[in-house]
Amino acid sequence: MSVTDRLDDKSLFRTDSFIDGQWVSGEGGVDVLNPANNAVIATVGDVGEAGARKAVAAATRAFESWKKVSPFERARLLMNWYKLIHENAKDLATLITLEMGKVHKEAQGEVIYGASFIEWSAEEGKRVHGETLSTPFPSSRGWTIRQPIGVVGCITPWNFPNAMITRKCAPALAAGCTMVIKPAPETPLSALALAELARRAGIPDGVFNVVCGDAPAIGGVLTSSSDVRMVGFTGSTAVGKLLMKQAASTVKRVALELGGNAPFIVMDDADIEKAADGVIASKFRVSGQTCVSANRIIAQPAIADKLVAALEARISKLKAGDGFASDTDVGPLIHMTAVSRVDKLVSQAREQGARIVTGGKSLADELGGSFYAPTLIDGADPSLDVSCSEIFGPVCSVYRAESEADIIKLANDTPYGLAAYIYTNDVGRVHRLSEGIEYGMIGINAPMVGAASTPFGGVKESGIGREGGKWGVEEFTELKYVLLGGVEG
Ligand code: ADP
Repeated sequence: MSVTDRLDDKSLFRTDSFIDGQWVSGEGGVDVLNPANNAVIATVGDVGEAGARKAVAAATRAFESWKKVSPFERARLLMNWYKLIHENAKDLATLITLEMGKVHKEAQGEVIYGASFIEWSAEEGKRVHGETLSTPFPSSRGWTIRQPIGVVGCITPWNFPNAMITRKCAPALAAGCTMVIKPAPETPLSALALAELARRAGIPDGVFNVVCGDAPAIGGVLTSSSDVRMVGFTGSTAVGKLLMKQAASTVKRVALELGGNAPFIVMDDADIEKAADGVIASKFRVSGQTCVSANRIIAQPAIADKLVAALEARISKLKAGDGFASDTDVGPLIHMTAVSRVDKLVSQAREQGARIVTGGKSLADELGGSFYAPTLIDGADPSLDVSCSEIFGPVCSVYRAESEADIIKLANDTPYGLAAYIYTNDVGRVHRLSEGIEYGMIGINAPMVGAASTPFGGVKESGIGREGGKWGVEEFTELKYVLLGGVEG
C-alpha cells in the first residue's frame, strides 16, 4: 500500500522542501524507508546549501514583519495550526508510523503531545514581558524588555518526527522568531506535513521553512550564517558538540537536547509491581529509542531478584511487530544499523558473563524488518558499553547497589544527565536522592516526565537550555535593558 493510499487527506504527503511559502524540489533524492519492512515509501529531494541559504534569506525577511505582529494575532495563527493538527491527527500519526515504525497508538499520542506545545506557547507568548528596575542614579529609570531573538535554525531527530518540531517551533513562533527547520533524513514526511498545515493555518510565507537534504551542508549554513541568531538541536551528543563548535564562529545561542543514560532507581520500600510497570512504560516506548528511556535499572539488593522476576514476566510477553498491527507492543528500530549496534552491545554483555534473562537477539529475519527482541540483562558490569552508552533500543539491565551514597555514585557515573526515575515511598529518600543525582528531570514513582507546561532538558553532556513551559518561550528571546536618564528634569 502506498503512503497516499493510507491517508484521508492525500495532500499531506509532500516530498519537496518548503521555502518562503513555496514547495521546492531538490537534486537527486534521499529514500525514506518503512522500518517495519525496509521498503522505500518516498524519495525526498536534497535542496542542500543553496536551499538552506534561500530559506535563511526568506526567514530573515519574514522576521521583520513577524516580530511586529501582536502576540495575540500570533496566538490566533498558532491556534489555527493547532486545530488543523488535531483535525488531521490520524493522517499525521500514520506518517509517523510509516516513516519511523512507532506503534500507531504511540504515534497518535505523539501528535497530541506535539500539538499541546502549540496551544501552550500560543498562550504563553502573550505573557512575555519585562520588569522595571531600581537604578543607583537619582534621576533615572530602568527597565527590561524581552524581544524575539531572530531567525532560528532547528535540526531535529527521527524518534519524534512531529513533536520535536512543534516543541521547538511553537515557542519560537509565539515569541516572534522565524524558523528554518532541517528534519532528520529518515523522517522528513512528518515535517513537510506540518509545513502544509502551517501554510493552511495562515502562518505567513518565510516564517516556517523546512529544508531537506545534506545534513552537514544545511547544518553548516544554519550554524555559520550571521543572519541565524540561534540553533536549536535535538540529537546525538556527538553532533551536538560539532554544531556547538560551528556556532561558536558567530557566537550564536545554542539550545541542545542531547543523549541520555537514564537511571531507574528502585528502593526496597517501593511498590515493585508499580516499579516494573514503570520500567516497561519508560523503556519500551518507541522501542527504547527515546533520550529519556530507562537505560540502567539500579535496585537495592533486598528487592532486586523480585524486580528481575517481575520484569521478566512482563518483557517476555511484549510482542514485537508492525506498528499498525493492533497487538504490537514494540515496533521496529529505525534501521538495520541500529539493530546491529544494539546486538553488539548485548553480545558483549553476554560474553562478559552477564545473564540475558529474556530476548537478546535480532528478529530481523523472523519479522522481515528492523526488529530486535525486547531484552532484559542481569549482572552486567557497570563498565560495559551496554551500561555506559545510550542503548537506543529495547534493552535494559539491572544493577545492584545498597547504600544511598553508592546508588547516587552509580547513577551519576555517566557523562549524561537528562532524565532519571526514582521509585520509593519514603519522603526522606525522595529529597536526598533527587538532590544527589545530577539530572535535569526526575520522575518519582512516575515513568514519564514531559509535558508542555514543564521544563525539558538536561545537564552535563545531555545539553543546554530547556524546552517547554515559560522557560521554553524565554529561550527564544533576548533580554534588553533600557536606562532613561534626566527624569527629574
Ligand atoms: P542519530 O544518530 O540518532 O540519527 P544524529 O545526531 O546523527 O542522531 O541526528 C540528529 C539530527 O542531526 C538529524 O536531523 C541529522 O540529519 C542531523 N545531523 C547529523 N549530522 C549533522 C551535521 N554534521 N550537521 C548538521 N546536522 C547533522
